[in-house]
Amino acid sequence: MAWQPSSDQLQQFTHLQELLREWNGKVNLTRLVEGEDYWISQIFDSLWPLKPWLSKGEGGPLKVIDVGTGGGFPGLAMAIALPQAQLTLVDSVGRKVQAVQAMAEALGIADRVQLRCERAEKTGRDPHCRRQFHLAVARAVAAAPVVAEYLVPLLSADGTALLYRGQWSDDDQRQLQRAAALLNTTTETIQVQELPGQRGLRHVIPLRPKGACPKQYPRAVGVPAKLPLA
Ligand code: SAM
Repeated sequence: MAWQPSSDQLQQFTHLQELLREWNGKVNLTRLVEGEDYWISQIFDSLWPLKPWLSKGEGGPLKVIDVGTGGGFPGLAMAIALPQAQLTLVDSVGRKVQAVQAMAEALGIADRVQLRCERAEKTGRDPHCRRQFHLAVARAVAAAPVVAEYLVPLLSADGTALLYRGQWSDDDQRQLQRAAALLNTTTETIQVQELPGQRGLRHVIPLRPKGACPKQYPRAVGVPAKLPLA
């Protein structure tokens, strides 16, 4: 990745692993907690798409939102790796949000990590969130056109949405492009990464706004997934 965590960051990642073990006993957060499941499929997989931001070092303040954060990925890993960033983590499941809030507090990063327990369709209509974020990310949340409808309304004029995907086909790309056009965004060059340890290929598709996202998006709760834009 051409990036190394500092010793403090490494300690925080290790602490996060311990917290996940603890919280997984109470709430079903993730099965990727031990060994390479954690270090590759959670930490590396969360951070590899962030090379341009990680290489900027301290840089300016960065507002990041992780939609459908589940057990806190990629959001908590980003909060540790990007100490200049303010993170907003959204999930509609209260027990997961409470667990991630407790983990952020235990890690000493709760002043930079805000949790919201709500549907992404609501977040995108809240004036405190709409058009506010430099980076909007989502991993394993829904089909790409659905995720695009969740993320794009949250982007500032110079913002970037990163759609974390496993497999990615030409057909996926065509469908996303149709959704992206309706949302007034362009799809940028797809990033591809082979995970270490033969853990498979990952894709990240960046989206950038061409102008303001049309007011009708995101549509009402449940509609993006039921009637995807593509
Ligand atoms: N991003 C995490 C990861 O990669 O490990 C969690 C992935 S989990 C499979 C998907 C999560 O997205 C669930 O926790 C679910 O509650 C949340 N989710 C799905 N649709 C959502 C929506 N419309 N608004 C908020 N959260 C949503």
